Amino acid sequence: MKNYPAILGGQKTRNTSFLARKTMFKEEIKAVTDVMHTDNLSSFLGAPGNSFLGGEKVIEFENFWKKKYGFKHAISVNSWTSGLMITVGAIGIEPGDEVICSPYSMSASATSVLFYGGIPIFADVDPNTYNLDPISIEKLITKNTKAILVVHIFGGTADMNKIMLIADKYNLKVIEDAAQSPGISYKNKPIGAIGHIGGFSLNYHKHIHCGEGGMIVTNDDDLALKSQLIRNHGENCAEVLDKKYLPNIIGGNYRLTEIQAAIGIEQLKKLDNILNNRINLANYLHTKLSNFDCLESYIPEEGFEHAYYVFPIKFNSELAGMSRNLFVKSVNEEFVDATGWESTPLAEGYVKPLYLNPIYQEQIAIGSKGYPFNVNNDINYNYSKGICPVVEKLYSEQMIITPLIRDPLTEDDLKDLISAISKVLKYSKEISNNFIDDQNETIYTPVKVASEKNVR
Ligand SMILES: *Cc1c(COP(=O)(O)O)cnc(C)c1O
Repeated sequence: MKNYPAILGGQKTRNTSFLARKTMFKEEIKAVTDVMHTDNLSSFLGAPGNSFLGGEKVIEFENFWKKKYGFKHAISVNSWTSGLMITVGAIGIEPGDEVICSPYSMSASATSVLFYGGIPIFADVDPNTYNLDPISIEKLITKNTKAILVVHIFGGTADMNKIMLIADKYNLKVIEDAAQSPGISYKNKPIGAIGHIGGFSLNYHKHIHCGEGGMIVTNDDDLALKSQLIRNHGENCAEVLDKKYLPNIIGGNYRLTEIQAAIGIEQLKKLDNILNNRINLANYLHTKLSNFDCLESYIPEEGFEHAYYVFPIKFNSELAGMSRNLFVKSVNEEFVDATGWESTPLAEGYVKPLYLNPIYQEQIAIGSKGYPFNVNNDINYNYSKGICPVVEKLYSEQMIITPLIRDPLTEDDLKDLISAISKVLKYSKEISNNFIDDQNETIYTPVKVASEKNVR
């Protein structure tokens, strides 16, 4: 029976898999072979001089990125995780400094703070944009707060004007994690450097990539210089670079190679097209999903662009007559097994709120004594379940994401997704009656017992 849900023994909506994402074409291949012919795969040297800032392709890639969006500086790095660590170092986070972070993000959006001894403090998100809620941010500010690490999640943008007002009021630095939102604007300003510094990921799964990589952007000369120093063993040349003396910089090797930069240049040329295709697919989904009461898609307000890294959908189980997890499972049953994450029809929850991970529950990040959570020894940091109710509800009950919003998929593919959703919802009662839905989620129990300190 074609119109009976597959999970109840009916036929699947679709028996062919979604076309895989393809990202490397003749332009990238030529760019790589051109670099190979030069025999120069990296010109970086961790020493003062011309080679400190990297080779020809690295510099060309950075110039292309900064000119395309009008940033004063672009600094390529070997991953955006490295980029986050560098930006945390560049803005001067010290042990015991508190940084307000989003719990609804990839783990590095908060662990980057821990590498410098900073303490991530998790604010809740706005239930519509899924990005940091300015009101929640302001409530958490203390004398130890030094920065806000804003994430632009799923391809959307956080409400930067409101966040910058708070930052100015309390003299805080703002880092933007725009890994999922390259090439878009908030109120006509390109995101990434609306705050003091920020950047993008170029890992394989992102809109554009060079295998692994990242790009830091900033309009601040001092932060750019510090980022360049941290990227490349800055301790070796803290005295001579740009005639500034910066002894308190420990560098690493976070350098991009010439081949990666050459690929990145070709990829950046394609970003506008990639974004346009995703926006067209999103518009189709917005229209079709509006026919289902139980599904709500977030349509960005005027001034907020969206890059659609994935397409977020909010689910109302009461209106659907079934739980979210069962809904997702039933829709996915309508398709053949996904060949990879990018072809998964629906996924539930996104990531677990970051503070529920063991590193925060046990409060030991580096070593075994509780560093850096023990630096401010009069404060007992609270990472209990319940501190960010909006995120917890999104994670456990409401959020669904689909990555089927990418090249080379078309409206025809999404039509199948809509048919599958429609079929499952029509039979929601029957499906619910046939399956016991185990929504119980194991919550990590901390081993450490809280001591008699100020709880916050
Ligand atoms: C991908 C991603 C990162 C990490 O980027 P890498 O280049 O993989 O290190 C950080 N934050 C967010 C929100 C991401 O999506």
